[in-house]
This record gives sequence, structure tokens and C-alpha cells, in this order.
Amino acid sequence: MAKHDYDLFVIGAGSGGVRAARIAAGYGAKVGIAEEYRVGGTCVIRGCVPKKLLVYASRFRDEFEDAAGFGWNVGATTFDWPTLIANKDKEIARLEGLYKINLEKAGVEIHATRAVIEGPNAVRLEKTGRTITAGKILVATGGALALAEDSGKPIPGLEHVISSNEAFHLPKLPRSIVVYGGGYIAVEFAGIFRGLGSEVTIVYRRDKILRGFDEDMRTGLTEEYARRGIKIVTGRTIAGVEKVAGGLRAKLDDGSMIASEAVMFATGRAPHIKGLGLEKAGVEIAANGGIKVDTASRTTAADIYAVGDVTNRINLTPVAIREGHAFADSVFGKKPWATEYDMVPTAVFSTPEIGTVGLTEAEARDPAWIAAHHPKLAGLGGEIDLYKAAFRPMKGTISGRAERMLMKLIVDQKTDRVLGCHVLGPDAGEMVQMAAIAMRMGARKADFDATMALHPSAAEELVTMRSKWVPPAT
Ligand code: NDP
Repeated sequence: MAKHDYDLFVIGAGSGGVRAARIAAGYGAKVGIAEEYRVGGTCVIRGCVPKKLLVYASRFRDEFEDAAGFGWNVGATTFDWPTLIANKDKEIARLEGLYKINLEKAGVEIHATRAVIEGPNAVRLEKTGRTITAGKILVATGGALALAEDSGKPIPGLEHVISSNEAFHLPKLPRSIVVYGGGYIAVEFAGIFRGLGSEVTIVYRRDKILRGFDEDMRTGLTEEYARRGIKIVTGRTIAGVEKVAGGLRAKLDDGSMIASEAVMFATGRAPHIKGLGLEKAGVEIAANGGIKVDTASRTTAADIYAVGDVTNRINLTPVAIREGHAFADSVFGKKPWATEYDMVPTAVFSTPEIGTVGLTEAEARDPAWIAAHHPKLAGLGGEIDLYKAAFRPMKGTISGRAERMLMKLIVDQKTDRVLGCHVLGPDAGEMVQMAAIAMRMGARKADFDATMALHPSAAEELVTMRSKWVPPAT
């Protein structure tokens, strides 16, 4: 008789958990998975996927405007938010169904319930009260929204604000919206709402949006957003939100007020660990608030592992998927390997979008930071060359769109290795995904130069930047 009910029990059916469950089951393990909300997790249900659909919707405005220069008379256009939301919901339901089918096909038992850890090998399923045992437990509960506080105190009127969760289900498109925060979600939703026709104001507590991204990309997007009529109020926090006739009023810390129909907080996400019973099993929490894990995603409890945003390493879907896959291969497939965290590409789906892989200029100038965060790149950086291109994409020429595309390569002087690639403009994410292959393989600037250009394209600029950038004389 089997010692445990399951060989593996996964808590959380998001990107990381689903991948781990399916791969482990493929190796013959008896696998159960619990999900308290919807199978697919944040990315599929209320994150990357529905967001990208909304981004597509928001970009039709540019297409309609640009069409005239190419001889098209599009005529008057109207936009219907409920149609978009209904179609988006249909697609998300379809994807959720596929996730379930794929889990079932792999032989994974799905439990639609919240699950909490009861001990080193025990999990209680809240819906039935049943406790099951498992040889290994994988915590893959992701992140939960962190609504900003004002120096530890809740912000008055927080009950009036929405988060990205609600933004996906608003009954109507707000005519005006204040978006609080300067990270991925704030910047992406600001672009979505603006493209769909809302008046948008971003309120951000520091001096420039997208902290952590390359300075040129941050500046470039700030300028493009201004051109698109998105107001960005920096150096301010929201001290309170009140209901007034016709909508809401956000009160900023300098006493100024911004009236709008909606206020959306996008002030980050935190590892979803509350009430999981981690302490009962001896699972420790790291200083960054995530579950403490080693490179094999092992927690401080012998049979408990954790992957994805709940570990607060790099909080991106493909990273969670890799971590889940590596865990399953290593523990159930006797094929140990570990996720690599260097050269992780990412995109901000603003309009225009940012695609980025490797180091920012500031990071590349700091060898100590590189050695601490990317041991495989240790010894590189410090002395770097920059290559930059700023140009109007061909499509903008006869459409009359003034928007400029920016590209930047950061190259290690000693080795010629390309350490960073940053693109702002249409299809930046698509381009950078491809550049990431070469950069992970250790491509040098000479390899970029030797690569034949694909003409006419915007991406060809990445292989035709011949002159080192020199700062303008002051
Ligand atoms: P981010 O961490 O990217 O941004 C949070 C923003 O809120 C920052 O600008 C931060 O400011 C600000 N903030 C945090 N706390 C407070 C506070 N108390 N008061 C005022 N402002 C505050 O989180 P997001 O919510 O945008 O996204 C969550 C995660 O989801 C991201 O980490 C990312 O991994 C993932 N994601 C990825 C996407 C993609 O790959 N395209 C898209 C969307 C999300 P400061 O800069 O000062 O810290």
C-alpha cells in the first residue's frame, strides 16, 4: 500500500504549479493539485493573457489614425467596452478549460478548494475538511495584490479604488482614471485606458516611472506617454480617496486633488503566503517576504518545495514555469537541473512597448552588483560601450505618426559581450525574445555586426549600429 495519498500535492494551479504537476505526473507520480479560485492562475485568469487582449484592443486607435496616410478612409469608429470584456471572458474560460483538460489528461486530480499545510507531509482541503498526505508538497500560490498604505496606515477611502482584478471586469470604460504606481501594471493599464479613450493620470511616488528599467527606456516612454496625453504626476503619493458627485477625488500628499471616474491602485504584489500553515511544517520566509528556497526550489522543510511568485525571485510567468519544470524533472524524473536567472527577457506592454534583456546601463557599470546578482557574469561590466539608435519607424513616415523607436545595446569593453539589449517601440517584446537567444549564448557585438540585416525592418537596426554612442558635449 502506498505510504501517502499522493506522491506530489501542488497547492495553486497557476503557471508554475500546473507545469510541475503535469511533468511529475508524466513521470508516473500520483499527483493532486488544489486551486481555490480558477485553474490557470493570475497569468491566465487576471494577468498577462487578458491584459494582452486589452492591449491589442487599445492599439486599434493607432491603426485607425495611421490608416488615412495609407489611403484608407476608415470613417467614424466607436468602441464598445462590454463587447471586449465579454469576448475576453470567453477566451479566458476557453483557456481555463484547456488547462483543466491538460491536467486531467496527464492524470492529475484537481481539487477545487483552498488547501493549507497541516504538517511536513499533510495538506487539509478546506472544502471537505479532509486531510491528505503527500510524499512531496509544492507551494505555488503566486502573489496577491498589495494595496498601498500610507506609512503603515491604511489610506482613507481605499474601499473606492479598484485594482487590476476589477479593471478586467468594469461594467463600463471609465471616462477618466487615476492610476497609482509606476510599475508594470500601472504603466500597462495607463496605456490600455488611454488607447481606449479614457483621460489617464499616473500618480507615482518617485521621479520617473518603471524603476529598475534602463534610464533611456524610462525617459523615452515617459515622453511618448506625454505625447499620447497621459499625465504623469511624479514625486507624489495618494493620501486619500473620496466619493464626490460624478466619481472620485484622489487627494495627494501635497493637498492637491485629482477628480476622476475611477482610481486604480497598481502598487505591487506580495507573495501569497497568508494562512497557508507554512509555520506548522517549518517553512521559513526569506527577508524579501517570499518563501525561502535554494536553487532547487527546496524550502527549509524537507519534503516541501516552492516555485513562482510565492518565492519572490523573478516574478514572471515563464520563470515560474521553468522553476516548476525543473522541480518536476529533478525530483520525479531523475534529471536534475536548475533555472537560470541571467538574461531573462521581459516586456512592458505599454504602447509603445518596451522589450528588455540583460543588464541596464546602470547595472552594467557596477561590477560589484553584477557579481552579487549574476555570478555567471562576474568579471564583466564596469567599462562598457553603448550603442543607441533613435528613429521613426517606416510605418510612421507616411502615416505622419511622430513616435520614435529607441534601441540600445550595452557592450562589455573587455570581452565585446553584449550585456544588455533594450528596445522601445512596436514589437519590442518580439525582437528582444530573439535577441535573448543570442545573448544567453554569450553573443558579442561582433556577432551582432556579422549578422546579416533583414531589410526593411526595424529590428535590423540591432545589427547595424556601428558607432559607439558618445554623450553630447555640454
Ligand atoms: P511593480 O512592483 O512592478 O510596481 C509597483 C509600483 O507601485 C512601483 O512603482 C512602486 O513604486 C509602487 N508602490 C509600491 N508600494 C507603494 C506604496 N506603498 N505607495 C505608493 N506606491 C507604491 O508591481 P506591479 O503591481 O506593477 O506588478 C506586479 C508584478 O507583476 C511585477 O513585479 C511583475 O513581475 C508582474 N507583471 C509583469 C508583467 C509583464 O511581464 N509584462 C505585467 C504586469 C505585471 P517604487 O518604484 O517606488 O517601488
